[in-house]
Amino acid sequence: MDKDLSRLLNPALQHIGAYKVEGGQQADVKLNQNESPFDLPVLMKEAILDEFKQEAWNRYPDILPFRGIQAYANFVGVPSESVMMSNGSNEMLYTIFLACLSKGRKVVIPIPSFSLYEKLAILLQSQVVAVPMHEDLAFDVPEIIRRARDEKAGFVVLSTPNNPTSRSLSLEEIRMIASEVDAIVLVDEAYVEFSREESAIALLEETPNLIVLRTMSKALALAGMRIGFAMANPELMAQIAKPKIPFTSSRLAEITLTHVLDNYHLVEEAVSYILNERVRMSEALRKINGIRVFESDANFIIIRVSDAQKVFSYLAGQGILVRNVSGYPLMENCLRFNIGLRQENDLLLEKLLALQ
Ligand code: PMP
Repeated sequence: MDKDLSRLLNPALQHIGAYKVEGGQQADVKLNQNESPFDLPVLMKEAILDEFKQEAWNRYPDILPFRGIQAYANFVGVPSESVMMSNGSNEMLYTIFLACLSKGRKVVIPIPSFSLYEKLAILLQSQVVAVPMHEDLAFDVPEIIRRARDEKAGFVVLSTPNNPTSRSLSLEEIRMIASEVDAIVLVDEAYVEFSREESAIALLEETPNLIVLRTMSKALALAGMRIGFAMANPELMAQIAKPKIPFTSSRLAEITLTHVLDNYHLVEEAVSYILNERVRMSEALRKINGIRVFESDANFIIIRVSDAQKVFSYLAGQGILVRNVSGYPLMENCLRFNIGLRQENDLLLEKLLALQ
């Protein structure tokens, strides 16, 4: 871009790139975005659309989507003043980061973690205090606390289970971090439905500096509908709500949410299928020579191979799209793939076995 024009823009733009999904978003077997392999049943889609037809499409939705907020608050068992809904949890991350960071402030981010965190911090001209995971990709809890205190960071961002490592923090560890730092602690629970650990929602009442983030894009299989939620103590939530972009949740998203929550047994069945497949895949992969399989607590598995780019390209050539996460710190030659349908998982196994 013309140097003169870039001089007029936010200087932080020079340090970030646009969000990319390497390898694209189309494939016969698509395992690269941690989505659910199960779409909603057609009958449920029709019921949702029938309800949506009754709405006034020429009118704005509510400034805050009260119906969606109330439905989710009832579902998780917290007061509605503790809940905010957004157009996907990425949008909520922008809101929360705007509320918590500004030029010169410090944020603790364990690395590797979801790339958007660092990007938002840089955009807001804040300083990232990066705390590396252990060699087996587990969180280094004492170091997170120590660095947050030493650096006087006012914000700590934790993704648990973490993307891209698939390792989790226990409820006790989250409680310890939140109580020992003088910071707002954001716990991104995008993959919590697949986890062995309990949700940090249990800590909301006793922890005034805690924010819990959820997405409906993974276990709830609504990535295309764009729904996310944040939860916090009502006083903190009132502050976080200030930078929220108004009207970003459509009535269609609210209606879809209520139908999916009313039929939550379908989500539970899908989660149990994925967890069974996770065990089956992990065990089968461990038997393949030359592959290291990391412990997984989410709907995706991390493996280390001898040449990740080569395996990525070979799989892509076979119509299987996984994610090459080798560029992340500590994840040299690692690939990430989410659990798909049984036959998709079998195909991936077959192709990896053939490489042996
Ligand atoms: N947080 C984490 C940890 C994620 O992995 C993702 C999606 N990859 C998101 C948030 C964003 O999800 P969405 O915007 O679809 O809700």
